[in-house]
Amino acid sequence: MSKCKGYAALEARAPLGPYSFERREAREHDIVIDIKYCGVCHSDIHQTRDEWSKYQEESIFPMVPGHEIAGIVEAVGNKVTKYKVGDKVGVGCFVDSCRTCSECRQGLEQYCTVGTIWTYNGRDKEGKPTYGGYSDKIVVDENYALRMPENLPLDACAPLLCAGITLYSPLKHWNAGPGKKVAIIGLGGLGHMGVKLAHALGAEVTVLSQSLKKQADGKRLGADHFYATSDPETFTKLAGYFDLIINTVSAPIDWNAYLNLLKTDGTMVIVGLPEKDIPLGAFSLTARRRSVAGSQIGGIRETQEMLDFCAKHGVACDIEIVPIQKINEAYERVLKSDVRYRFVIDMASLRK
Ligand code: NAP
Ligand code: ZN
Ligand code: ZN
Repeated sequence: MSKCKGYAALEARAPLGPYSFERREAREHDIVIDIKYCGVCHSDIHQTRDEWSKYQEESIFPMVPGHEIAGIVEAVGNKVTKYKVGDKVGVGCFVDSCRTCSECRQGLEQYCTVGTIWTYNGRDKEGKPTYGGYSDKIVVDENYALRMPENLPLDACAPLLCAGITLYSPLKHWNAGPGKKVAIIGLGGLGHMGVKLAHALGAEVTVLSQSLKKQADGKRLGADHFYATSDPETFTKLAGYFDLIINTVSAPIDWNAYLNLLKTDGTMVIVGLPEKDIPLGAFSLTARRRSVAGSQIGGIRETQEMLDFCAKHGVACDIEIVPIQKINEAYERVLKSDVRYRFVIDMASLRK
C-alpha cells in the first residue's frame, strides 16, 4: 500500500478537509499518476452531501471526491504497454468494470451490467472503497486511463473527463450536426461544454439559461441564440423548434414545459441529476411523438475519441483555478451557479 494525501468529507454533508489514506501498490497493468489538476463537478457536491441515497446502494464515507483527474504518469507496472513515465494522462468517472458483459465489450463500460467501478464512492473488485482525484496520486489500470491532448493546457482539459464526455456522448448519439437545432439547458460546467461541442459539431446551438446574465459568454462559447427561461415568452417563441434538447440542470425543473419546445420526433436528453423525481405528462410526449431519454458520461473508447476531437478543434474548458483549501467556498459558488465555468483544483496546493 502507498500513502496518499487528499481532501475528504468525513461524513455526509460535512465540509471537506485534509485526509490521509492508502492506495494499492501498482499491479502489472497499473499506472501511478501524479495528479496535477482535478475538476470540480456538481456530482461531487451531490455525493458528499449524500443527495443520491435514494438511487444508490450506499454512500461511502470518508469520501475523497473528484473524477476529472489530469496528471503525469509517475510509474508503470511491468506489463503496461499503453503509457510510459512522463505521459499526460487522465482518469474520468470510473476506474474499472467487469470487461466481459455485452456493454463492456461494446465499449459502454459506464453501463456495465455487473457494475461499473466508480472512481470514488464505489468499491473495487476486492470490496475496498475507491477514492477520487482530490488527492496527490491515483493508481489505475492502463485500460481505464485516457491520453490527454498534447496541444492544450492540462488544467483546462481536466473537466473534459466528465463534463466534456457527458455532453459529447449524447450529442453524437442523437446526431447533433449541420442542420440540427440543439438547445442546452443550464450554462454551467456541463452546459458550457455542450455549447462548445455542439458548435464544433456544426449544429445550431441555443442556450436556455435562468437569466440573460451569461448571454455574452454564451455567444463567445459558440451559441447562436440565448434565451432566459425566467421569461415566459421564451416558451411560446420557441415552441416546436428543437431537434434535440440536453438538460444539464442539477435541480428540479418542469420537464413538460421544455418538452413542448421539441419539434415532431425531437428528443430531450436528461443528463442533470437532481435529488428529487420530476413528474412527466403523457401529452408532452404523445403530442408530437417526442422522446425523453437519459445519458451517463461515456465509455473509454468514446472518451478518447472526444479528447482527440477536442485536440483537433482546439476545444477545452473555461476554468477558474482554485487551491484545495478553498474547496468548500468553491462548492458554495457552484450551488449559486456562480462559476465561469468549471473550478479546477491545482493539486500543487495540496503539497504546501
Ligand atoms: P453546474 O456547473 O452547477 O451547472 C448546472 C447549471 O444548471 C447551472 O449553471 C445553472 O445554469 C442551471 N441551474 C442550476 N440551478 C437551477 C435551477 N434551480 N433552475 C434552473 N436552472 C438551474 O453543474 P454541472 O457540474 O454542470 O452538473 C450538472 C448536473 O449534471 C448535476 O446534477 C450533475 O450531478 C449532473 N451530472 C451528470 C452526469 C451524467 O453522466 N449524466 C455527469 C456529470 C454531471 P444557468 O445559470 O445557465 O441557469
Ligand atoms: Zn462529473
Ligand atoms: Zn461489464
